[in-house]
Amino acid sequence: MDKLKYDLVIIGGGPAGLTAGIYASRSRLDTLLIEKITPGGQALVTDWIENYPGFPGGISGPDLVMNMVDQAKKFDLKIESAEVQSVDFSGPLKKIFLDGDRILETKAVIIASGASPRKLGVPGEDRFYGKGISFCGTCDGPFFRNKDVIAIGGGDTAVQESIFLTKFVNKVYLVHRRDKLRAAKILQERAFANDKIDFIWDSVVTSFNGGLMSLEGATVKNLKTGESSEVKIDGAFIWIGILPNTSFIGNAVDIDEYGFIRVNDKMETSVPGVFAAGDVRDTPLRQIATAVGDSAIAAMSAEHYIENFEHE
Ligand code: NAP
Repeated sequence: MDKLKYDLVIIGGGPAGLTAGIYASRSRLDTLLIEKITPGGQALVTDWIENYPGFPGGISGPDLVMNMVDQAKKFDLKIESAEVQSVDFSGPLKKIFLDGDRILETKAVIIASGASPRKLGVPGEDRFYGKGISFCGTCDGPFFRNKDVIAIGGGDTAVQESIFLTKFVNKVYLVHRRDKLRAAKILQERAFANDKIDFIWDSVVTSFNGGLMSLEGATVKNLKTGESSEVKIDGAFIWIGILPNTSFIGNAVDIDEYGFIRVNDKMETSVPGVFAAGDVRDTPLRQIATAVGDSAIAAMSAEHYIENFEHE
């Protein structure tokens, strides 16, 4: 990374960042995409994707990402591995501070750093991720047709997604650490009326268990009695919250009460010239399809901003 001044810097190399990169470099903006390790984001660790249009037989997450990277490189997008430490958006040229004391200057920024599901931090959780454990019902529910699954959490996501899962699965065991759900009352009523959902109250999952390749069960501990039991399941869905990847942002742009970046319908943040797209923004749906749509808009908005920037 010899050069330190750009038209546009994209922070994050998941589907949102790569799409912004394809659009911006195709528009001949001098664009640099910064990704912490390797492009891909959550898609890179997604075994199989069935709901991204254009692939009727489905496609693996890594293959989809590699296609996006190849497409971006075809238009000469520059991609660098670095970690963004902090940002300063106070001047007309935005500053991005990277590890190794490097500073980038850019006319515009697209933040596409994504979000990460909160994890339980129990044995087996990482090992069976993508081999039975999922954080996304919309993405992975259809893989568990007529199977038994466990779901963890008591908020809107856990309850709404558990109801969604009952379209496919035989049984959802919904494990919650208290004896009252946090979810909206209407969702609670629907879940209580659904005979495919069994509630396991006052309980936590202490480990996920199985063979070499697949999840077979979960150990569930009742916090009131201290007793543990084994639940035989084929899948597990963890819905205990989602955290935006925004630690480097500080107060530089407006965020909502959960830390997601507020944008308008042009993906403009509270700071002119700074845009956000994909899972990191306040959005009702976090999917690859929505991320790429956001980013097409963000790139167009950035292009317009840069044109005006040059005229002023
Ligand atoms: P959330 O509301 O923060 O709920 C997280 C749930 O996970 C809580 O029930 C919490 O238990 C539990 N939890 C947290 N850490 C845990 C741990 N380590 N072990 C076990 N359980 C744990 O998260 P969310 O459901 O993803 O919702 C996030 C926001 O999006 C909320 O504002 C929600 O209203 C909104 N949302 C809305 C809709 C809708 O309107 N239809 C749909 C989805 C999400 P406790 O209850 O004991 O704290």
